Amino acid sequence: MSKSGHQPRAGGLKSEQAVIGMVSLGCPKALVDSERILTRLRAEGYGISPDYAGADAVIVNTCGFLDTAKAESLQAIGEALRENGKVIVTGCLGANPEYITGRHPKVLAVTGPHQYEQVLDAVHMAVPPIPDPFIQLMPSTGVKLTPRHYAYLKISEGCNHKCRFCIIPDMRGRLLSRPGHAIMREAEKLVESGVREILVISQDTGAYGLDRKHDHGIWKGENLRSHIVDLARALGEVGAWIRLHYVYPYPHVRDLVSIMADSKSGLLPYLDIPFQHAHPETLRRMARPAAGTKALDEISKWRRTCPNLAIRSTFIVGYPGETEEEFETLLDWLQDAQLDRIGCFKYENVEGARANAMPNHVPEEVKRERRERFMQKAQAISAGKLAKKVGTVQEVIVDEIDGDGIATCRTKADAPEIDGCLFIDSNTDDLKPGDILQVKIDEANEYDLWGQRLDASCGAPFTDIPASR
Ligand code: SF4
Repeated sequence: MSKSGHQPRAGGLKSEQAVIGMVSLGCPKALVDSERILTRLRAEGYGISPDYAGADAVIVNTCGFLDTAKAESLQAIGEALRENGKVIVTGCLGANPEYITGRHPKVLAVTGPHQYEQVLDAVHMAVPPIPDPFIQLMPSTGVKLTPRHYAYLKISEGCNHKCRFCIIPDMRGRLLSRPGHAIMREAEKLVESGVREILVISQDTGAYGLDRKHDHGIWKGENLRSHIVDLARALGEVGAWIRLHYVYPYPHVRDLVSIMADSKSGLLPYLDIPFQHAHPETLRRMARPAAGTKALDEISKWRRTCPNLAIRSTFIVGYPGETEEEFETLLDWLQDAQLDRIGCFKYENVEGARANAMPNHVPEEVKRERRERFMQKAQAISAGKLAKKVGTVQEVIVDEIDGDGIATCRTKADAPEIDGCLFIDSNTDDLKPGDILQVKIDEANEYDLWGQRLDASCGAPFTDIPASR
């Protein structure tokens, strides 16, 4: 689309649907990006305008390869601002937002190449879609691969760390946080569509907003800072269980735990923290974030604030250079930490990871033997923790009911797929996935619980129950 190429758009569209224009500059890769963005917008029910006048907002997909291409991009942005006024910039030049906002401060948003989600967030903000079941190909929540009652919500992409065993920062780039209002809108839509539990994910959830310098946005007329503590507090009010994954033990986690301690908040008393190891030398060799943290001290502070906090973590055994003494430190640490859910991986090389070239790789049979010892310890801890739940009352969410009438549920301490289950084998006729109810625990093994329903009233998500661990 260019000014000279203006064509009248299809009559009547504007009154029926939001319409977006696209100026696509640069190479075929940029063109494919433009096509993908337009495809997503069409699937959401947006119309596409061939000219500025017919568009409610315009996306300019820029090129920044050569100086002439940069100049052309800036010129195209200027033209779109003059002719339409609502302009979202994406593409290669968007990798340097200040370069664009310095010349064109009135653009609504700037995103980098391949950042489809961010472009769509910006479009939703500038021109909210008008729901129309006859033209909208996708549900407002997008296509979900999870059951209807829970959903994953990604709050950022990429990671600023450089753990030596990981290639995610090379593949996905540095931390890029979504605007708070876009996350909140998605969370609300999920709840409206019947989701009862939202699993917040990213590579580094605790770092949310760092790249945005924790800027302030507006959500429903209120100030919303792009910081995980503020975001978690806001999410805790959307009317669903909110579960945080991939949080590192940064100092501000204490503020998150304070919110979790408030039984009226939807923020579950659950932290998924991938500690990976406990020996300071191993952590240093791994180049882990927050490697210097005194994790045991932090854990006991969190538990003082929120006694029913469930902590899940994963660990790597047999990392290059791991000595028997380092491994035993890890086992002792596990005993002291008494985590609620524990997973363990044997170290393996990943193509492109810096750890591959490290000296003193641990022989395969030693890694295997250490994993077995680790799992024995983890199992014993888990069995002891679950045994203490027998006789308590837990609020649970129903995941499914099988043909024999056995309901598979989860407590607040259990995330789907990775943690344990709670089974109810009687009085389940009226239950359905997503129901939330109270259960008295009467049996436990190393990983799972069994119990009986206490109430027949399903669906009240935030019933207060006494702390039970
Ligand atoms: S393992 Fe380390 S580098 Fe990889 S995503 Fe997590 S924090 Fe980032």
